[in-house]
Formats: sequence, C-alpha cells, structure tokens
Amino acid sequence: MKIGFIGLGNMGAPMALNLIKAGNELVVFDVVQKNIDSVVEQSKNKAVSAKSVKELAQSKLDLILTMLPAAQHVRSVYLGADGLLENVSPSTLLVDSSTIDPQTARDVCALAKAKGNDMLDAPVSGGTGGAQAGTLTFMVGGEETVFNAYKSFFQQMGKNIFYCGGTGNGQVAKVSNNMLLGISMIATAEAMALGVELGMDPKILASIINTSSGRCWSSDTYNPYPGVLENAPASRGYSGGFGTDLMLKDLGLAVEAAKSIKQPVMLGGLAAQIYQTFSKLGSGHGHLDFSAVIQMFKK
Ligand code: NAD
Repeated sequence: MKIGFIGLGNMGAPMALNLIKAGNELVVFDVVQKNIDSVVEQSKNKAVSAKSVKELAQSKLDLILTMLPAAQHVRSVYLGADGLLENVSPSTLLVDSSTIDPQTARDVCALAKAKGNDMLDAPVSGGTGGAQAGTLTFMVGGEETVFNAYKSFFQQMGKNIFYCGGTGNGQVAKVSNNMLLGISMIATAEAMALGVELGMDPKILASIINTSSGRCWSSDTYNPYPGVLENAPASRGYSGGFGTDLMLKDLGLAVEAAKSIKQPVMLGGLAAQIYQTFSKLGSGHGHLDFSAVIQMFKK
C-alpha cells in the first residue's frame, strides 16, 4: 500500500518504520524537521518526506495515518484550509491513532464522511516499547466493513486488534484504559516508595509485587522505580516514554467524558490533580515519562 504518515514522535516514528518493514511505500510529514529526517534516515531513504500536510494529502495515497498529540492538532491537520479533508482524494482511507476525546473523533469522522472519505478512530495502547516491537493494541471505531477490510493493516504495527463499535468507540475504550493506567501508576509509585523508605530493596519488592496480588502493568512492565527494570523509562532518567502531560491530557479526556454523562470518576479526578501538581512542580516535568510521578513520593 502507499501510506501517508503524519506525526513522527515517540510513537509515530517506530510505527512508521514498522509499516516500511512490512513492505509499504511511505510518505511522511511532521512539523519538526528533525523527526522527519530521523525516520527517513532510519528507513534508509525508503520513506519519502512531504513538505506539508497538503503535499502529503495530494500524493495519491491508499491510506493516511495520523499520530498527533491532542485534539487541537487533529482538528488543524484534518480541518484546516491546507488540511487533509480539503486536499485528499475520497478513495483514501483516513485513520487517526492519536488519543483524543470521543466527540472530536465523531465530529472529524462525520466531516470526512461528508467529503466521501471513510475514516476510523484507532487509538493504541502498549507504549513506545509496543510501538517499536509492533505489538500495540489497537482499539478501532467506525464502520465494521471498513475495519474488516483493513484489519491486516493494523496487524503490521500491532498484536491485538479490537473492533470497538461505531465511530468514536475506539477513543471510549482508550480513555477508560488510560484512566486505569494513570491511577495504577500512582498506586505503584506510592507502594514502591513506601516499601523502599521502610527498608526494602526496590528490585526484591517489585519481584514480590509482581508475583502477588498487587501485580499490574505499571509494576511488572513499566516499574517507576529507577533500576528495577532495565528497559523502563525510570532507568533512563524518565526519557522517551509517555509524557506526564500526555497522561494529564488523557485523564482530562476521561473526566470530561464522564462529566458529560454525570458518571463518577473519583480516583480518575484525583489522579489528574496529582499529575498536574507534578507537572507544575519542576520545569520540564511535563515532558518526563509519567512514571516520574514517583518523584512526588521519594525523598
Ligand atoms: P509526541 O509528542 O512524541 O509526537 C507527536 C508528533 O506530532 C510530534 O513529532 C509533533 O511534532 C507532531 N505534530 C504535532 N502537530 C503536528 C502537525 N500539525 N502536523 C504534523 N505533525 C505534528 O507524542 P507521542 O508520544 O508519539 O503520542 C502521540 C499520540 O499517541 C498522543 O495522542 C498520545 O496520547 C498517544 N499515545 C502515546 C503513547 C506513548 O507511550 N507515548 C502510548 C499510547 C498512545
């Protein structure tokens, strides 16, 4: 397939490289030139760069995938005057894998449909490690026939591909999962810090938790205590993972979505306040991986 890829950040870059590995032709764009250069270089010049969203949209593509930070970026890339919907052919499938609120996903999909384009919302879970390994979980909303026709496309970047129902339901699944993740990371950080302050070795404590009833992904795959897991962001100064401000964004999406139906999300709301406090406490905290929230609990 000939694929356009917009948003070559921590997640987008490795996903784009996996699509190249699977034999697709790629046209790539990002607002940060060095992110484009890095993907072109890592692909050994197999990826071709576009100068703008408009140029990418006009490249006769089978599919365009976007992996952008938040809803305002999705709106500007899709709905701006030089954006995708104004410039893309109706035969191109549009897929947005950014994590955004379900309502924006539904609004953008409806506008795409009005222009004649099929569109799926397909947020992911699995972190940067999953993006690199091609083992992401995709949560896909939209028309089921379109999903079935493109399931093998998602399998080139992911291991677990779920159809979630109509447009926006991929985002509903994603915000629910990430609210749980945001809460469980704080709980893991609090427990690890408590155990270590009371005299436990962090690696032994993590091994016990990971084979006991406290086990969870935040502990056994992404432990926030430095040195416990060699490949976790905690062991590389909390760089290169899932930014604190992105987690704060996701918790905001969950709280807002909950508010719209008056659904209580008490721990989700508290977790948002804790990440917000951590982000504000030090310059650059917002860019650190969200597991750095353990710094609120350590000396
Ligand atoms: P990121 O900030 O590293 O990457 C986003 C990229 O989009 C950047 O390279 C940025 O320059 C680019 N961009 C911004 N505006 C643009 C525009 N108008 N046109 C073109 N490019 C533009 O973020 P990320 O960590 O890759 O996350 C991307 C999305 O995936 C977010 O919605 C995030 O919530 C979600 N997500 C992230 C993770 C993770 O572990 N990092 C996991 C699951 C989901």
